[in-house]
Amino acid sequence: AAAPRAPWLDDLNPAQRAAVETLDGPLLMLAGAGTGKTKALTARIAHLITTGRARPNEILAVTFTNKAAREMKERLARMLGQAVEGMPWVGTFHSVGVKLLRRHAELAGLRSNFTILDTDDQLRLLRQVIVAAGIDEKRWPARQLAHVIDGWKNRAWSPESVPTAEQGVFDGKAGALYAAYQQRLRDLNACDFGDLLLHMIRIFREHDDVLEQYRRRFRYILVDEYQDTNIAQYVWLRLLADGHRNICCVGDDDQSIYGWRGAEVGNILRFEQDFPGAAVIRLEQNYRSTPHILAAASALIAGNRARLGKRLWTTLDEGEKVRLIGHWDAEEEARWIGEEIEAMQRGTRGMDPIGLDGIAILVRASHQMRAFEDRFLTIGLPYRVIGGPRFYERQEIRDALAYFRLAVSPDDDLAFERIVNTPKRGLGDKAVQTIQTVARTHRVSLLEGARIAVESRLLSGRGAAELRVFVDAMARWHRQILEEPDTHVELAQAILDESGYTGMWQAEKSPDAGGRLENLKELVKALEEFDSLQGFLEHVALVMENDSEDGAEKVTIMTLHAAKGLEFPAVFLPGWEEGLFPSQRSLDEGGLKGLEEERRLAYVGLTRAERVAIVSFAGNRRVHGQWQAQLPSRFVDELPPEHVEVLTPPGLQGGGYGAAGTGLGALPLSGGQSGSALHDRAARADVYASPGWRRMQARAALQPMGRRRDPQEVRGLTIDGTAMPVHAVGDRVFHQKFGYGRVTRVDGDKLDIAFEKAGRRRSWHDSSRPRRRP
Ligand code: ATP
Ligand code: MG
Repeated sequence: AAAPRAPWLDDLNPAQRAAVETLDGPLLMLAGAGTGKTKALTARIAHLITTGRARPNEILAVTFTNKAAREMKERLARMLGQAVEGMPWVGTFHSVGVKLLRRHAELAGLRSNFTILDTDDQLRLLRQVIVAAGIDEKRWPARQLAHVIDGWKNRAWSPESVPTAEQGVFDGKAGALYAAYQQRLRDLNACDFGDLLLHMIRIFREHDDVLEQYRRRFRYILVDEYQDTNIAQYVWLRLLADGHRNICCVGDDDQSIYGWRGAEVGNILRFEQDFPGAAVIRLEQNYRSTPHILAAASALIAGNRARLGKRLWTTLDEGEKVRLIGHWDAEEEARWIGEEIEAMQRGTRGMDPIGLDGIAILVRASHQMRAFEDRFLTIGLPYRVIGGPRFYERQEIRDALAYFRLAVSPDDDLAFERIVNTPKRGLGDKAVQTIQTVARTHRVSLLEGARIAVESRLLSGRGAAELRVFVDAMARWHRQILEEPDTHVELAQAILDESGYTGMWQAEKSPDAGGRLENLKELVKALEEFDSLQGFLEHVALVMENDSEDGAEKVTIMTLHAAKGLEFPAVFLPGWEEGLFPSQRSLDEGGLKGLEEERRLAYVGLTRAERVAIVSFAGNRRVHGQWQAQLPSRFVDELPPEHVEVLTPPGLQGGGYGAAGTGLGALPLSGGQSGSALHDRAARADVYASPGWRRMQARAALQPMGRRRDPQEVRGLTIDGTAMPVHAVGDRVFHQKFGYGRVTRVDGDKLDIAFEKAGRRRSWHDSSRPRRRP
């Protein structure tokens, strides 16, 4: 018979073709980014089906995200057309896990309609378990326990199989709490994400017939992004594949970025031992990125010691170098990127225009997103945030906004309901009902109802005492808003701190609590741009409204972690600063291993770019509420100069820079710095003098904006026909080192400043910055 038509084989290179045509037995495709692993994996599925080797429902393909699964299914549908009945199972470990467990729930002590808990539900349940065990939840927070249990589940440990050596955490009580938690889940007919695989592993182990059934059923198994599987996923796969050994795994050790969540790069490195006789196929041709981008990424990842090492090449046209630019602060970084995106849409530098769908901003930490969201809203640039709620929709931000709303409008009942017992103030459902009844009877707001309920002793005990504190504080804050509206930034911070809200997250020792605190800091920082809490809340209300998924082209904002496997014509990589990227946490907790995982993340970021990659860093960033002079990331230094084009930020053109410096030499930074000084934190703090000053300068250059802070602080002066904002006697300024002060004398470029704490000083910042704006 004639060979079946297989057009997808035609656009594969010989190595990819071998991977597609080696249908039986274990196969590993271990290759760098953009070499067509996913493409070959998809072609392999099509080939299995059209050669008649397997029926669609005999194939199981596991991808890393639901989005990737969707895309693979769409591609298969296009390849196979109408000719084929049914489709293979393509999904994530979770989605496949749910499907299987529903069929066999009773073997895990569940009913088939079991519910899957989300993170919030899981925490609530853990809290109950902790309290029921008579443990002080303040000392041993549920989040911490959740982290421990998730870690155990990632390693496929049931309560009985957690090694004794591991049980020391949580005062030695975690093992028992884990068992109690599993029991509670069963009682509730529920499971968490980790259980989806864990239950099936147990079922496979204890019920040979079930395991056999699925070994016969899934005759071919394919796994994408294998480097990021954890042990439970590995065990689950091996159980299914050990019979026929028709398992094809693809991945890249250089892109293993989920170690912090239990992923084991060892899984991919051990593949040939696990499956003796496995065929190993390496791909070296990269089809995604132009040569400079590829070379920069390859040089960067070469800094890692723990790697197999591979060489990648491409035949694409030379294209652009990786662009590198330093900015004064995160706001300016966002502003510049917004402008750059608008230019790309029109087509700059002789390049074809790039649509918004082709542009991505990949951040290391989600708190970086806020500056971009605010900026893009201001200029009306459509964007979407992938992998996590948009900034203003996060739980902690909504809580904080509810506090601000209630302080501004005491009759905002929704806000009241959201926060009256957050943090816990000992108010049960009954207490809240009482307040509602009182409010209804008196026809007043809930806040007023609460005051009446407390004063007329309708409520008593701890709850009543704490409620009184809450009500009094709200009244105080409300007065302050009316009487001293311009203290809104300090007030916002005070509200969060004095209400106990900040403390609530500080007490949580969980991995995400830090991120939430960061987000709260970001929120307070955002307030600086507005002249009142009210103005800010109006802005946020508009932000939240602007939230439809309408199919229009949009810029994508996402974390580097979520970007794995994706590609975009243009990629922005902001925030390449020490402490942010590599993140301080990964350095502190992971040492060299942590650093290498961060470097892999940088590699993943760069290799998402097809034609344009733009790395940026800011000289100042607010960290933990404090302005900090930031150093450019060591990864910036590791980029090979011959593949990098250093851009001069706007406002610096015409300025001269010292040639000193390491790596790339002088790195201009808006604010007027050269590379050498960037590496001396102390020197920079002096030279930059006042971030507040620079922010005002930036603001003066903006279009006049509605609710923004009064630009009176900035007075214009004309130099060479260009408006220059300068300080005048009496202006309040902020200095990195000396804090707040007032300008007492202006002498040409120099200012005399009386600092509130540090006394009188002469500022020399004006002489160190360029005089010209573009
Ligand atoms: P990553 O490691 O980032 O997941 P990958 O190895 O899975 O990358 P793919 O996403 O499959 O790479 O492919 C990268 C790009 O190269 C895609 O746009 C794909 O269509 C293209 N490509 C892959 N192989 C070929 C080929 N043989 N000819 C032309 N284009 C190809
Ligand atoms: Mg891929």
